[in-house]
Amino acid sequence: MSDRTIKASWVLDGTQETALANQSIVIDGGKIASMEQGAGDGLLVMPPLANAHDHARVARLSQVGSYDVPLEAWLPYLTLIPAVDPYLASAVSFGRTARGGVGSVMAHYTRVQGLTDFPTEAKAVAKAARDVGIRMALAVHCRDMNPLVYDAHDALLADLSPAACECVTRRFLRNPVPAAEQVAMVEAVAAEIEGNGVTVQYGPAGVQWCTDTMLRLIGESSARTNRRVHMHLLETKYQRNWADRNFPQGIVKYLDEIGLVNERVSFAHCIYLRPDEMELIAERGATIVVNTSSNFIVSSGVAPIAEFIKRGCRVAMGLDGLAFDEDEDALREMRLAYAVHKGSGFDVKFPRPDLMRFATANGRFAVTGESGSQVAPGSPADMLLLDWKELSAELIEPDVPPFDMVLAKGKQSHVKGLIINGRDVVRDGAVTGVDLPAMEAELLATMRKAYPTTADVRAAMPELKGALRKHYAGQFYCG
Ligand SMILES: [Zn+2]
Repeated sequence: MSDRTIKASWVLDGTQETALANQSIVIDGGKIASMEQGAGDGLLVMPPLANAHDHARVARLSQVGSYDVPLEAWLPYLTLIPAVDPYLASAVSFGRTARGGVGSVMAHYTRVQGLTDFPTEAKAVAKAARDVGIRMALAVHCRDMNPLVYDAHDALLADLSPAACECVTRRFLRNPVPAAEQVAMVEAVAAEIEGNGVTVQYGPAGVQWCTDTMLRLIGESSARTNRRVHMHLLETKYQRNWADRNFPQGIVKYLDEIGLVNERVSFAHCIYLRPDEMELIAERGATIVVNTSSNFIVSSGVAPIAEFIKRGCRVAMGLDGLAFDEDEDALREMRLAYAVHKGSGFDVKFPRPDLMRFATANGRFAVTGESGSQVAPGSPADMLLLDWKELSAELIEPDVPPFDMVLAKGKQSHVKGLIINGRDVVRDGAVTGVDLPAMEAELLATMRKAYPTTADVRAAMPELKGALRKHYAGQFYCG
């Protein structure tokens, strides 16, 4: 096998804040064979970023008129996105993810296109990830209760006009597939698609959306098979309210009792965790995935990262399909998370080494179950190559630390390359495995063409949104 050498002007190896200057990194197959002093060629090399909570969605909020809608009212808007070919949708999503500097992604597959049976769709998603070349965990969505709100929906339906009620009933209130069947499906899909960069996880939507039967089954199966689990937890104050009413012993204690708080599990959001719950999560070694942009955009709140870190929780970064500028810029997401959570004055709440792990290793662990994500001899040849010439073009002081420059201004336009398992996934800023611009154009045309198929739900949406606001706005919340 032929070796190749990356000439890095700087290397952030993922374990320290200080960068190593002028390194020749030799790649042999899927591994980094050696790294030694050499001549740099204008690249800053660091571990790829990880997006540990995403949904492989392709439509941006503003595309379907759902910008600035709180989460509980926003979720039904997803129905406005027409079903499209799952390979096309996933290839676009993973291609954009790679272009944004991400090497491992959690695809919590909450939106099934449904044009074929699910195992066929899952194969298409796995093929898209492999064609693009990033590491992907397909967290298979499991859900069997509370289709509309977190409690009974009778009163809400009674508030709607007959036409809107008919549409909402038809679109949202289908009988769920029995829990045991959904759980068995995960194993069947895993047997078909796992391997070669793709893994399968259990993806229960969240405690408010899954019966006790389903969650227990997942806890038992995960313990037996070692399969990882990814789920939403306490994303909004309304979910906290629901959890406190339904689990007097505490929702995290409940999850722990049924085998769903451990190293195999990652929880997205966790904005409304209490200190004792953070401690339990830290003790058990589960991962918390914070989605800073998403939390702002769908009005969920601000996650207490400093409190998580203080208690020793493993915290990872997610984009949740809702990056701040409606792109997939993971470098900007890292900057935003740092700016929001670093603390005030000289009181440092988000130390740089924690930030690096947050953006890289911790998310990679949540996705792949493998620890270690460093640019070092013997490690997998996974590297993000940034344009140091561009990043440093305006420097006056020549010795500004490279990590400062990444944090100050790094964005996806600085992504020159992404190497995963020794393969060029992004080269000269372009995705190599699929024709992303052509597929994006095809997808947009397909969605525009299919948009009339969602006219019924679009017509019902203003009423539904109003009814949801009424349902939640009056709820008592004890913060
Ligand atoms: Zn999510």
